[in-house]
Amino acid sequence: MAKIALITHPACFEHRPPAGHPESPERLAAVLTALSGLDDLIRLDAPCAEKADLVRLHPIDHVERLMALEPKQTGQKQQLDPDTYMSAGSIEAALRAVGAVKAGIDGLMAGQFERAFCATRPPGHHAEARKAMGFCLWNSAAIGALYARAHYGLERVAVVDFDVHHGNGSQELAELDAEFFCASIHQGGIYPGTGHAAETGQGNLVNVPMPSGADGSAWRAAFAETILPALAAYRPQIIIVSAGFDGHRLDPLAGLNLEVDDYVWATERLLDVAEGKLVSTLEGGYHLQALAACAFAHVRTLQTYKARSGGGLAGV
Ligand SMILES: [Zn+2]
Repeated sequence: MAKIALITHPACFEHRPPAGHPESPERLAAVLTALSGLDDLIRLDAPCAEKADLVRLHPIDHVERLMALEPKQTGQKQQLDPDTYMSAGSIEAALRAVGAVKAGIDGLMAGQFERAFCATRPPGHHAEARKAMGFCLWNSAAIGALYARAHYGLERVAVVDFDVHHGNGSQELAELDAEFFCASIHQGGIYPGTGHAAETGQGNLVNVPMPSGADGSAWRAAFAETILPALAAYRPQIIIVSAGFDGHRLDPLAGLNLEVDDYVWATERLLDVAEGKLVSTLEGGYHLQALAACAFAHVRTLQTYKARSGGGLAGV
């Protein structure tokens, strides 16, 4: 079995959107309860990222403006857009979500473990450099990619996003930075409305929009035909996975028909390309039982799958 880290922190429960909001603390509880049954995980507390980490992606004035907007008292909410809120505790939660990805990269680079799953919230992949949106404050995956390059001198860092919503924040970085590779498979035509196949950046961006109702076989085929060859050609030194499980057929926010096994398949294929090494961070997933089952299967696969060497061009 591969050495796997589970990186989380109780502070990630303290980001509290209003009652009834789908991105709830109960999501993290469901994930951690499911993972509590897995033995041999290296369990680490997510550290807080520092401002110096955030400003690799987010301009300092935007970072400080968001920090200043955080409500001071429990129960107060600050609404940033129609569906993005902050409560007292949101900033620490989001800093630890970024810090978890950093700690995952540090552990991989130090040889402490081979793969990591960051069970944190709020999610991050919709956060653009100057805009918190779509439940997201800071873009943990993109900041992690920039950290891996700046701190370790890695030249080829990829973000692969299989959340059902397009990872517009990570795409924004790819459009500005030709060295960075980003791929997203998502449902087309839903929030945030971007991620068309023609959006290819500088040849470093792959978007795979799927039609409403698409099932696992169509999703796997598209993933295998588009994302995997491009990713293998990029030869990533590290892959950061934006792992959203809201493409599951039971998810209330979207209309794909994926099953748990589809996430197992995607995890295996990414491990093949990564030659076994990746850091995965939780993004969406809003049906609690489906989220728990998918996250468990994802981490179990990280733990047990023996990656094939040589580029990951395994069949569907
Ligand atoms: Zn999502």
